[in-house]
Amino acid sequence: MDVDVVLFESLDRVLSRVAGTELSAFYETVHRENGVDLRTGVTVDAIVGEDRVEGVRLSDGSIVAVEAVVVGIGIVPSVGPLLAAGAEGGNGILVDEYCRTSVPDVYAIGDCAAFSCLHADKAVIRVESVQNANDQASCVARHICGDPVPYQAFPWFWSNQYDLRLQTAGLSIGYDETVVRGQLSDREFSVAYLKRGRIIAIDCINATKDYVYGRKLIEAGARPSPSELSKPEIQMKDILQDATSHTPA
Ligand SMILES: Cc1cc2nc3c(=O)[nH]c(=O)nc-3n(C[C@H](O)[C@H](O)[C@H](O)COP(=O)(O)OP(=O)(O)OC[C@H]3O[C@@H](n4cnc5c(N)ncnc54)[C@H](O)[C@@H]3O)c2cc1C
Repeated sequence: MDVDVVLFESLDRVLSRVAGTELSAFYETVHRENGVDLRTGVTVDAIVGEDRVEGVRLSDGSIVAVEAVVVGIGIVPSVGPLLAAGAEGGNGILVDEYCRTSVPDVYAIGDCAAFSCLHADKAVIRVESVQNANDQASCVARHICGDPVPYQAFPWFWSNQYDLRLQTAGLSIGYDETVVRGQLSDREFSVAYLKRGRIIAIDCINATKDYVYGRKLIEAGARPSPSELSKPEIQMKDILQDATSHTPA
């Protein structure tokens, strides 16, 4: 739109809640190359102006002049009414494998539901994604209709920025190793997240095949060789075959 853009991020890197440092650094570079004045570790305290927006005041007291503000700061789950009704929970409402709360006949789904997640070593977490909200809705509908199936949907996300299509499979919570597959400068690469040798998530940038086979690797609980993973010339299909043939059922 040919406008000057300043992006303030209060944490020390972009995408820090969903991606590793390699990916954050890559996206920060891309935004800067596209003319975005990206500032990390900066918190906005207030929007200032008389009759209209004139600037934003930062936590250090300085004011940056702007003509318009786009706020994209996430949500705080609206758990108050359910907690007041006696449902167990805190930051999220605790639900069982059918999304039932501790209050009889009351379910919770989506951003406000905290559940033991099979894909995060059963840690109790909330997942903020459209996929999770939709799939939990289906889980509840089936339970209400007398066809209960425990919630085990595989988590996946996407994000389109410029010409970059980011597809994420799995949850990277607790990873202890990352493997970059391909060259970041090619704008076609993946970052795999491993936990004690097991692949638990993969971020794929313009790399749909990696996403498809990476997802299969994660679902299989595979322990692919990091060295093989890091070589794009070795097909993910072959890595899948190799890793699953060595993975105990
Ligand atoms: C900036 C931003 C970017 C995002 N980008 C992505 C993305 O790229 N991909 C992705 O998968 N997900 C993304 N998400 C997350 C996604 O939007 C949410 O996970 C999804 O909308 C959750 O659905 P939900 O139904 O649980 O909650 P919501 O969509 O928030 O719906 C809850 C509704 O309940 C209403 N409500 C709250 N309390 C009450 C009450 N007491 N009584 C009646 N109504 C009430 C609220 O007003 C709201 O309309 C993004 C979220 C944000 C904030």
